[in-house]
Amino acid sequence: MATATLPAMLPSVKSFVAEKRKMLVNGKWIEAVSDRTFEVFNPATGDVLAHVASGDVQDINAAVKAARAAFETGPWSRMTPSDRGKLIWKLADLIEQHLEEFAQLESLDNGKPLTVARVADVPLAIDLFRYMAGWATKIEGNTIPVSVPYAPGAKFFAYTTREPVGVVGQIIPWNFPLLMAAWKLGPALAAGCTVVLKPAEQTPLSALLLGKLICEAGFPDGVVNIVTGFGETAGAALAQHPGIDKIAFTGSTEVGKLIVEAAARDLKKVTLELGGKSPNIVFGDADLNTAIAGAANAIFFNHGQCCCAGSRLYVEQGIFDDVVNGVAEAARSIKVGEGFAPDTQMGPLVSEEQLNRVSGYLDAGFAEGAEAVCGGKRGSGTGYFVEPTVLVKTNAKMKVVQEEIFGPVVTAMPFKSAEDIAPIANDTVYGLAAGIWTSDISKAHRAAAQLRAGTVWINCYNVFDAALPFGGYKQSGWGREMGHDALENYTETKAVCIAI
Ligand code: ADP
Repeated sequence: MATATLPAMLPSVKSFVAEKRKMLVNGKWIEAVSDRTFEVFNPATGDVLAHVASGDVQDINAAVKAARAAFETGPWSRMTPSDRGKLIWKLADLIEQHLEEFAQLESLDNGKPLTVARVADVPLAIDLFRYMAGWATKIEGNTIPVSVPYAPGAKFFAYTTREPVGVVGQIIPWNFPLLMAAWKLGPALAAGCTVVLKPAEQTPLSALLLGKLICEAGFPDGVVNIVTGFGETAGAALAQHPGIDKIAFTGSTEVGKLIVEAAARDLKKVTLELGGKSPNIVFGDADLNTAIAGAANAIFFNHGQCCCAGSRLYVEQGIFDDVVNGVAEAARSIKVGEGFAPDTQMGPLVSEEQLNRVSGYLDAGFAEGAEAVCGGKRGSGTGYFVEPTVLVKTNAKMKVVQEEIFGPVVTAMPFKSAEDIAPIANDTVYGLAAGIWTSDISKAHRAAAQLRAGTVWINCYNVFDAALPFGGYKQSGWGREMGHDALENYTETKAVCIAI
């Protein structure tokens, strides 16, 4: 556990968590219709951190109504793309001015190191909004030469426009609370949609601070509504709501399937960013030091609570022991502790439920014959800590190799040659990301082409950028976040054809 003196909470953060937090509907901060609240916990201690309004069907109904009115008749519907872009940019500036508050809230609520939230979560969210602000004025259609073979001699002028898909429901997870809100809101707002956002019940605080800044930036009422609450209540009500044109979800594959079922009733548009079990492949000719550090970062960043975590480490057999020992040494050296401590490199898992889930996977792995080179246990104390763990003696059939653990647990397995590895790496229902470590550029490109994954990192891992699309093959999802691909999720194409 980290022992360094903890920095003080900013007074603004202290008062933010002390006050009962309300929801944002139609530009106003309101209690839940039921008047219920739920508790949010500090995962480093298990203590109650804040009380938040517990939204349900009626709150979702009010939020959807407000978003519909804002989309159809409000000032947002008449705003120029340039003005939309300016508002999004202004929001980014405001987040930047409140960077430390966001970083502290994120660390308190999610457990992640404050030092990481400051340099990763918050700056990435700011950058995403700025990137999407630029797109607001560049969502263009095409002019299309048409031939119409059954109308010889007739002449037509045809073009397409990209129109906002409408009112969007967005459900986000707890692993990067602010950043996931940014990934969802940025492209929706750039495209001209209106939104009902439901943050995860474990980590609703940064989205609520973001809501304050959305109001301060001057977004018209009802453009962004934020309903806090549980998945089975507020989340399910949003996914089923007939007044929503599209639902965007990030979370587990299991819940993703429920979202699809709910959306199927009225054929809402759906995009999903789901789980992963990403292979990270180290070839014998890789630079060992870089690959070892990279493999450790691939799994241990954000405590393994990343959908793209490099959780299956495949190492060419000649260097297997060196790489596994190196990653285990890196794991042992990770300073685990409270997110606020300046020397903490890994905080607690987000919740007791998540701790139990990860511990359950470790038990299952050991029962099936896996061995821990390091870690393998819960941490001590009342927080939701687990030791960074490297498992060996694993095989493709084991639960720990097939299922997403979403914790700091990597399974390491040797492979024989470049020819064998692609089918092994692809042997999962997921296809979110993959890593390749080699000094042979041709081998890297060959392997990248063979991997069924939405992102392939070569001699790096966990490199994210607002301009780089991110999303999954297979059961890792539908559609892409970030980059200009993300705008596809929030626009409809209209073809217009004129006889001339
Ligand atoms: P995890 O299991 O890691 O907590 P989930 O997929 O359950 O991840 O949660 C991601 C988001 O989905 C959260 O905002 C959660 O409240 C929401 N959610 C959970 N269950 C449902 C559901 N049945 N319908 C809609 N949203 C849900």
